[in-house]
Amino acid sequence: MSKPVILTGLRANNDLTIGNYFGAILPMIEMAERRAGEFQINMFVPDLHSFTTPIDHDRLLEQILQAGRMFVAAGLPLDHDDINLYRQSYVPAHSELTWILDCFTGVGEMGRMIEYKDKSAKLGDDRVSVGLFKYPILMAADILLYGAIYVPVGEDQRQHLEYARDISERMNTHFGELFTVPLPLEKQTEFFGKGQALRIMDLADPSKKMSKSDESGKGVIFLADNPDEAAKKIMSATTDDKASVNYNPIEQPGISNLLQILALLRGHPIDDVEAAYKGQSSYGDFKRMVADEVAGFLTAFQVKLADVDDNAVISAFERSEKIANEQANATLLKVQQAVGLRPRD
Ligand code: ATP
Ligand code: MG
Repeated sequence: MSKPVILTGLRANNDLTIGNYFGAILPMIEMAERRAGEFQINMFVPDLHSFTTPIDHDRLLEQILQAGRMFVAAGLPLDHDDINLYRQSYVPAHSELTWILDCFTGVGEMGRMIEYKDKSAKLGDDRVSVGLFKYPILMAADILLYGAIYVPVGEDQRQHLEYARDISERMNTHFGELFTVPLPLEKQTEFFGKGQALRIMDLADPSKKMSKSDESGKGVIFLADNPDEAAKKIMSATTDDKASVNYNPIEQPGISNLLQILALLRGHPIDDVEAAYKGQSSYGDFKRMVADEVAGFLTAFQVKLADVDDNAVISAFERSEKIANEQANATLLKVQQAVGLRPRD
């Protein structure tokens, strides 16, 4: 692990969304395309995270492969020595380190996680799993096993990233230098050249984050959505009665979200996009334009997706899993030695 590691993973519990794409996949792909020689790039499918909330298990294997295909369609090169694409459950050290970290983590610490509170409130007590409660610990293991410093995540993962930093510092204080501490969210966004961590909102209810596990999916643009259907979702996005396009996420969250999406699709700064449409009074015309851009983006993405060779994805998984196991096991052994499970050499 001589090169600094950049790592990200996206839970394969449903098709990925444009929130996942712009929040986590694209920053990673940009690094992979521009700076792969300087860094080790770890893109993985966190398949063990997939069923912290209930899923259809008959679809999981296909979804894992689909996540791999989506990374490739988004531009992840598979033929570079510094780029790894692996499935979490094929690297057992993730589960083993999680157990050890569990024992150094307070129940209160996990109970404070906002995502846990939100998701468990929706599920109701008897459907809330222990897995959902403690998934940030598995996520910390995912990061710490490879000494990843840079972890592109959306704003929703702020608390979980903070926990990964806390637990690594806590273990280092107890046992000496075991882990590389990942950077805090602000430093991550700086590194990835973004002004601030991204949070694309649900189109139907712009007070909540767009999420792939949303029950209705009405306000969610999935990367595999039919482009016309996706355009309809944009046309029916909830806005306001101010009849003036402005970027003001507090007072005009719906319109601001559409401006944000437009800026991302065009690869332009939000200020430029706002300046171009500021004050426009016809939301219908504005939405039509965003809808067309979304449909165009999805059409192009889906052409690339259809071209991805499954065998290439599977061989990348297998090749990378060998490397990932070697690296992860080396870190795990250090931790096992530190906590007294293995003799120290
Ligand atoms: P779920 O509903 O299953 O939690 P999710 O859409 O929140 O799905 P995750 O697998 O939890 O997706 O997160 C994958 C990555 O995508 C994370 O880095 C997360 O920060 C990022 N992400 C998720 N939703 C958004 C969003 N709306 N805007 C920006 N980034 C997002
Ligand atoms: Mg999530």
